[in-house]
Amino acid sequence: MALIVQKYGGTSMGSIDRIKNVAKRVKRWHDNGHQVVVVVSAMSGETNRLIDLARQISSQPDPREYDQMVSTGEQVSISLLAMAIKELGIGARSFTGRQVAIKTDNAHNKARIESIDDKNIRQQLDAGNIVIVAGFQGIDEEGNATTLGRGGSDTTGVAIAAALGADECQIYTDVDGVYTTDPRVTSKAKKLEKITFEEMLEMASLGSKILQIRSVEFAGKYGVPLRVLSSFDENNDGSFDQDFQDNVGTLITIDEGDNMEQAIISGIAFNRDEAKIVVRGVPDHPGIASAILSPIGRANIEIDMIVQNLSTNGMTDFTFTVNRTDMEKTMKVLENEVKDEIGAKEILANDEVVKVSLVGVGMRSHAGVASLMFQTLAENNINIQMISTSEIKVSVLIQEQYLEKAVRSLHTAFGLDREDGESKVAGL
Ligand code: ASP
Ligand code: MG
Repeated sequence: MALIVQKYGGTSMGSIDRIKNVAKRVKRWHDNGHQVVVVVSAMSGETNRLIDLARQISSQPDPREYDQMVSTGEQVSISLLAMAIKELGIGARSFTGRQVAIKTDNAHNKARIESIDDKNIRQQLDAGNIVIVAGFQGIDEEGNATTLGRGGSDTTGVAIAAALGADECQIYTDVDGVYTTDPRVTSKAKKLEKITFEEMLEMASLGSKILQIRSVEFAGKYGVPLRVLSSFDENNDGSFDQDFQDNVGTLITIDEGDNMEQAIISGIAFNRDEAKIVVRGVPDHPGIASAILSPIGRANIEIDMIVQNLSTNGMTDFTFTVNRTDMEKTMKVLENEVKDEIGAKEILANDEVVKVSLVGVGMRSHAGVASLMFQTLAENNINIQMISTSEIKVSVLIQEQYLEKAVRSLHTAFGLDREDGESKVAGL
């Protein structure tokens, strides 16, 4: 017998028929003797509908009232699922965040979970019931409803699993796992059986939107085995045996071990959400970087990659990237607060750029990853505009029109293509 936390997202809960399917799936696990806690999101589209209502009243709705309202979506879906499970003849009990209780700080709209009381959940499990918990919501010290940010039900799922010491937290979604890259970009992308937390964190922050980043951080911190799998896959019959553990979905683990066979790169992530800003012709002296970047930081704009060119005749160019939606705002800050201050010649912006990143813990023990990456891009006539690296990641900024070409050629060069096992990388 295992204790399993299952999280079902909005798509899996998107209609009455789908909710009935979730009930059947949960029942199979229960029938196989497991204890099951189910965390659910609002039905798909519901959270957006609620947010839209609030925006019709105010462009910046009161944060407390926003949480009070937007948390209702999950309250509907937990009770519908409890009813559906009861229709199948099994005991079920739903809990809101408050009823659990899931205590958070008071940062409305992006609250952090501080503690979870497991008493009510355990009581119900011990009585043989299935427990259903509303994702995305909690209460602060004063009993106000709080929410955890978009996609926050993932984090609720992981936090409940950590609090209960569950054997696994299963995130059911509309894809059947984590892929080497977006299958919409190359049909050769393959599903990973395993990926480490660190890699998943990079993939998530680089634009692969399968899990809320915070849920991955949480799972890593508390060592919760986390699995991403499809809620539409009929093969998963609820027997949590070796076979299941090896084959279904993608398991996100701490374990880097016995992976000698594994590719050096686990995945290729990309992010179209980029814009490049160049501050041209700035005098190269101490304090310049700070004079450019501080006003941008004060405007709450996040900066990603940064490059400062070698100076010629005491003048240099300073280049960095921001989120594409922040490009206009960044330009305004630079024009108004920076350009004349530092005597820059001109400020240029380009939003036709994308970031492509190789991710893999295997990089730690293998040199040559970056050079094979650059060589592959060069062979494909793709110009690299900026580069950044970390211990388990190499990112490049390239022109947007080459995104697909870059991802496909790197996918092949690093031996990630499905079926044909041979790759250049074998000799690295
Ligand atoms: N319903 C919330 C949202 O749409 C939380 C979640 O789905 O995880 O963001
Ligand atoms: Mg989600």
